[in-house]
Amino acid sequence: MQVATTKKALIDALLHHKSVGLVPTMGALHSGHASLVKAARAENDTVVASIFVNPLQFEALGDCDDYRNYPRQLDADLALLEEAGVDIVFAPDVEEMYPGGLPLVWARTGSIGTKLEGASRPGHFDGVATVVAKLFNLVRPDRAYFGQKDAQQVAVIRRLVADLDIPVEIRPVPIIRGADGLAESSRNQRLSADQRAQALVLPQVLSALQRRKAAGEALDIQGARDTLASADGVRLDHLEIVDPATLEPLEIDGLLTQPALVVAAIFVGPVRLIDNIEL
Ligand code: AMP
Repeated sequence: MQVATTKKALIDALLHHKSVGLVPTMGALHSGHASLVKAARAENDTVVASIFVNPLQFEALGDCDDYRNYPRQLDADLALLEEAGVDIVFAPDVEEMYPGGLPLVWARTGSIGTKLEGASRPGHFDGVATVVAKLFNLVRPDRAYFGQKDAQQVAVIRRLVADLDIPVEIRPVPIIRGADGLAESSRNQRLSADQRAQALVLPQVLSALQRRKAAGEALDIQGARDTLASADGVRLDHLEIVDPATLEPLEIDGLLTQPALVVAAIFVGPVRLIDNIEL
């Protein structure tokens, strides 16, 4: 496995390749990231993973505790990527990625990036779209792999490549969960054991909705919100039922007749957790 910390080293490493799969990450890797690498490994000759905690997609362009406290553990990450079969790791620092300061020209996401997660985190998806566009231009992958855990990110990236005619296939990968049902996340490291137990209400509420849908029963979306809002140690950010492609809210009259996604975010202590489930 080669590790490139500069754009030049990355481009040199990619000189002689056939098909390339890209797995963008922010590090603090876990089994969710490993499953993206596995999907990329199965379909490409060369697998590139990037590790970059992108200040653009954090509050105040990274001048915030969430950015400063984001877990950084390069050695452990490199071991996981090597084990998972990655060929090239791109791990630049901020100055390498944004020489001379943050960019003046960004990818702008509009309505798909300003609702839901984007409403709670203004500018987040513009930051994501900008860094991912840069990674696509640097790596020129045939395919790029994104976790369904970040459902809105998948929708934004699909529109990024469609709207800007970027020649890459976007491959969504299913959510990986811990044995207790909590979606794997780098932020889970910041939960105490008690907080982790409190966070389980999130996957439980989502899977209860899925079970009701499968049984042909009416869906009580407000009831699901109330359960989260009143759960111990939990603050509800949002829970919505949306169209999986556009993320537009769906008006459902109890019974659901079309494909739908329930997306939700909660705070447990200072930690913001997201999850979603397809219905
Ligand atoms: P992050 O490092 O959090 O930016 O995530 C990098 C990629 O891994 C994104 O495409 C995420 O959606 C994906 N990912 C993170 N957690 C999971 C998970 N539990 N299951 C599947 N993919 C995930």
